[in-house]
Amino acid sequence: MTLPSPVITGLSAREVLDCRGLPTLQVDIELDEALQATADVPSGRSTGANEAFELRDGGDRFGGFGVLRAADHVAGEISETLIGTRLSDQRTLDRTLVELDGTDDKRRLGANAILGVSLAAARAAAAYRDLPLYRAINSNAHLLPVPLVNLINGGKHASNDLDFQEFIVLPVGADSILEALQISSEVNLCLAGILLERYGKVALNTGDEGGFAPPISDPREALSLLHESVAAAGYEGRFRYGLDCAASHYYDPETATYTVAGSRRDRDGMIDLYQGLIAEYDIVTIEDPLDEEDFEGFAELTAASGIQIVGDDLFTTNPERLARGIEAGSANSLLWKFNQIGTLSEALDAADMAHKAGYTVVVSERSGETEDPMIADLVVALGAGQIKTGAPVRGERTAKYNRLIRISEELGDSALYPEDPFAREDRSTGGDPADG
Ligand code: PEP
Ligand code: MG
Repeated sequence: MTLPSPVITGLSAREVLDCRGLPTLQVDIELDEALQATADVPSGRSTGANEAFELRDGGDRFGGFGVLRAADHVAGEISETLIGTRLSDQRTLDRTLVELDGTDDKRRLGANAILGVSLAAARAAAAYRDLPLYRAINSNAHLLPVPLVNLINGGKHASNDLDFQEFIVLPVGADSILEALQISSEVNLCLAGILLERYGKVALNTGDEGGFAPPISDPREALSLLHESVAAAGYEGRFRYGLDCAASHYYDPETATYTVAGSRRDRDGMIDLYQGLIAEYDIVTIEDPLDEEDFEGFAELTAASGIQIVGDDLFTTNPERLARGIEAGSANSLLWKFNQIGTLSEALDAADMAHKAGYTVVVSERSGETEDPMIADLVVALGAGQIKTGAPVRGERTAKYNRLIRISEELGDSALYPEDPFAREDRSTGGDPADG
């Protein structure tokens, strides 16, 4: 016998602060006048041009970043439509929200208003079934992710001269998520020591995602620092390396050139630069290496490099853009950010499309986060095997890592931490004797 779906009896939203001190939405939902659930909406800074529309108030409050209008839309039009209806399934709810908004990019009600309701409803529906969110979405969920731990920040996330946004270590040689976080944290401590000794105290300032923002500009220097820190921690061979270049932000469309560490390069020059870095530094994943409209260049680098090439600003978790990328062979991995598209169902559809095309999926935080750990449940639900949620410091980042530790305990013996997903037969560096 199936129980009738619960009735939505309450819906409201408030402004709360994100980790940058800017306002964001927190949505409360109530089912059957009893069960309550809440979800926070994250926000990006190095955003893709094709993301769903985040509604901000403008004016003087919070420098124009207020979200009171979005909160009003939740309390007003969205509540009028949903309160009293049954929460039967996520897809129906999300479709109702999308149709109510009626625009292509959710600009009328605000993607932040729509997403907050979508996420709070997902959490409430899981609680109604007495299940953790990952289990409510996927009855077979058991795969923990390798964290892509962002230890050095640059680009729009830091006040230094590094053009690439994220310099990442991947603890692929761990046995569990806890051990992955332990060894990553130890590497981060070694990095702090090296930075202090080499550049002085100023180098210990951090960027938006908690990684250090040292006063350097050469990406090779940042990658060398990561390698030195891994060696100093005694973990050589247990880490691989990655980048999020966020290249649209140092691309000049007028001259079709990229400026990195003061040198200008065209697309071919960038591909050469990446190929050199991949060979030299055991890089296994690069996100947004080229401009967000350069589907062709992405395809070229994907074919030439043989590593994981991730589309973030390129795809914006948008099934239409992803379909175009799959057709062209652009990238082989989707960066998955639910607020780029604005409902959970659409984001899940994008992940499904990626997986069916043989693309990997990297579940990602935003640079403007709150303490809400929801993406930890979602990466496990998706079985994606990779999460990008910043450095292993600061509450808005550790909230996700700590939730993963709890999930791994809940999963018990069925919890699986992936074997090195980047092991390749032709790899010439990396210290795995099986590769040699
Ligand atoms: C990113 O570019 O991958 C990222 C997390 O940054 P933001 O949230 O600022 O887009
Ligand atoms: Mg990115």
